[in-house]
Amino acid sequence: MKKVKCYMCDREATTREHVPPLCLFPAVKDTKGVNFRKNLITVPSCDIHNSKKSDDDEFLMLSLSGLIKNNIVGNFQQLTKANRALKRKNKNFIEKQVLRNHKFYKIKSTDGKFRTISVGNPNTERLSNCLKHIAYGLYFEEFKESFKGELEMFLGFIEYSNKNMQTFKKYIKKGFDIEKELNREIKGNNPAVFYYQFHEPDNFGLIGMRMVFYGAAEAYFSFKGKNAEKPFDLATALMLEGIKTTMELDGEKFIFNDEES
Ligand SMILES: [Zn+2]
Repeated sequence: MKKVKCYMCDREATTREHVPPLCLFPAVKDTKGVNFRKNLITVPSCDIHNSKKSDDDEFLMLSLSGLIKNNIVGNFQQLTKANRALKRKNKNFIEKQVLRNHKFYKIKSTDGKFRTISVGNPNTERLSNCLKHIAYGLYFEEFKESFKGELEMFLGFIEYSNKNMQTFKKYIKKGFDIEKELNREIKGNNPAVFYYQFHEPDNFGLIGMRMVFYGAAEAYFSFKGKNAEKPFDLATALMLEGIKTTMELDGEKFIFNDEES
C-alpha cells in the first residue's frame, strides 16, 4: 500500500490534523445542540507537525476569538471556551503570549449588556506561523499534495502603524474583493466560523487564497510554486524606494508615499 505523506513535509503521515484547529469551532456542549462542526477538514500529518502544536492551537483560538469585529459566533466562542482557557492560565499569560500592551475594556453591546473585551497588539509572529500552517493544510486539501515553494501572507485585521502598509492592506483587500466577485467557490461547511477561497493562478503562476474567521478576520495568502515566475512589478519597486506611487485597481486609486496628505 502506498504510504501517505504529511501535509507539511515528506515524512510518513501517522495521524490526521484538523485545519483549521478543532478548538476554533464551538463545541455542541456549549451551543446547546447547534452544530458548528459539520464536515471539518482533516489532512494527514506526521508526528512532528501534529503533536507539538496543541499550545499553538489554543493561542490561535484566543487570538482570533477576541477580535472586536467578529460575528456573534466568534463572540460566543470567546465568552465560553476562550474564557475557560484564560481562567486556567496565570495573569501574565495574555500579556506574554497573546496580546502585547494588553488591557481589558468593558463595552456595551447591542443587547444593552456589558461585556469585557481584550485590547492589545496581537503577537503577530506567532499568529502568522499558526495561520501559515493552516494555509499549507488547505493547499493539501485543495490540490492533494503538499505545497513546495514560497508562501506570502498578509493579515487584514492588523492595524499597521506605517501608512504605506495600511494602504497596501486596502489594495490587497480590493484585489481579493474583485476575485470574490468572479464567483470563485467559497469552501468551508461552517462559514460562520471559517471559510476560504482559492483563486486561479495569476499571470505569474501565483495562487491567491483568502481565509475568513468568524465573519471578520481575513488573512490573504499567495502561493508561489516552483514553476511560478518571480513577479516584477514596477509600481511595487517604486513604492519600496519611497517614491510617490499611485496604483489603480478597478477604478480605485491607492497612493503610496504620499507626503501631502
Ligand atoms: Zn510533517
